[in-house]
Amino acid sequence: KLRASGPVTVAEYMREALTNPGQGYYTCRGGVGESGDFITSPEISQVFGELIGIWYISEWMAMGKPNTFQLVELGPGRGTLTEDILRVFKQLASVLSKCDVSVHLVEVSPKLSEIQAVMLTGGKVQPNPEDKSAYMEGITKTGIPIFWYRDIQDVPPGYSFYLAHEFFDALPIHKFQRTEKGWREVLVDIDPEVPDQLRFVLSPSRTPATQNFIQPEETRDHVEVCPEAGVIVQRLASRIEKDGGAALVADYGHDGTKTDTFRGFRNHKLHDVLSAPGTADLTADVDFSYLRKMAQGRAATLGPIKQREFLKNMGIDLRLQVLLQNSGDTATRKQLLHSYDMLMNPEKMGDCFNFFALLPHHRLVHPDKKDKSDSKSPLPPVAGFNELLLK
Ligand code: SAH
Repeated sequence: KLRASGPVTVAEYMREALTNPGQGYYTCRGGVGESGDFITSPEISQVFGELIGIWYISEWMAMGKPNTFQLVELGPGRGTLTEDILRVFKQLASVLSKCDVSVHLVEVSPKLSEIQAVMLTGGKVQPNPEDKSAYMEGITKTGIPIFWYRDIQDVPPGYSFYLAHEFFDALPIHKFQRTEKGWREVLVDIDPEVPDQLRFVLSPSRTPATQNFIQPEETRDHVEVCPEAGVIVQRLASRIEKDGGAALVADYGHDGTKTDTFRGFRNHKLHDVLSAPGTADLTADVDFSYLRKMAQGRAATLGPIKQREFLKNMGIDLRLQVLLQNSGDTATRKQLLHSYDMLMNPEKMGDCFNFFALLPHHRLVHPDKKDKSDSKSPLPPVAGFNELLLK
């Protein structure tokens, strides 16, 4: 493609490298997990998914226990997170007894959707004809209807709890560099000196993306923007505004402060993003300030707050104590403590991972009390988020 039509944007490069139907990293390799290229929190500890399951139940109760909801996960990887959440739903079946729950997974990778189907249904799935919005459906091991889609737009409307864990960081970013001549977009090109090697170049003039995505008040010299993440957050916010529910986003990221975060992982090691595209995971930190902006006031936002604070507020310490008391052997106890440390240690995943939520405005501010600042809101606080940032 580069030979035929010249340099491409980093976003185009990333999209091809990750999701090209024939050779994309996720479509063909999909290496989540210990034996893959990178490890994620749900793969480290069952406690992570359990606490997220409790978050949804807590929000469901706070929103008046609607009699039906869809659990919608974007980019479910191996399906481990959904499995841990469904286990909590099953354990709390008496609480959820009158509620009709269904599971909806948005996944582009045929390889990973197969792994998810085995994990969640034991293989009890059927492919759907092309005219159906869900490309596959089945029944989970816990007896809940489950559906697979390629795009969030295909998920039926309705009261929904959305989940995106390490999903937004996999979406394509544009990169921009401030120069003496103004903003220029970073492009990927073939190195003329070394055949088969790629290199970064700057666009000779402004590109459409430079015009559209750089804020006039921007102070950084290098900026990454993920328009696809913006579009998805807009959709989530509109759906939540219209049909109710909530979205929980967890990812590594920043609040509009970082610059160059584009990197690759292969076999749990850093990998040059430009070498052997399609064989390594490519990722960039999520800019939560951009997500907040793209919610466009249709939904209220909370966070980002650090993973260790969120999990602490969700009761991870108590859960760990219970599991430690219930485990007889030293190896299991050691494993529990090790995985707790991975999730919570500020030097590991505790500080760089963040939680961010989208909620209907009425969940945070009682509609008729909006203007009376002295009135005490009777609304229960949102679990996990210490500080309520009403933006
Ligand atoms: N949430 C999982 C996996 C994270 S890896 C976990 O935490 O373990 C990213 C996931 O997003 C993979 O399942 C990948 O196939 C999927 N994905 C990447 N780009 C996507 C896109 N554009 N649309 C839907 N899914 C996508």
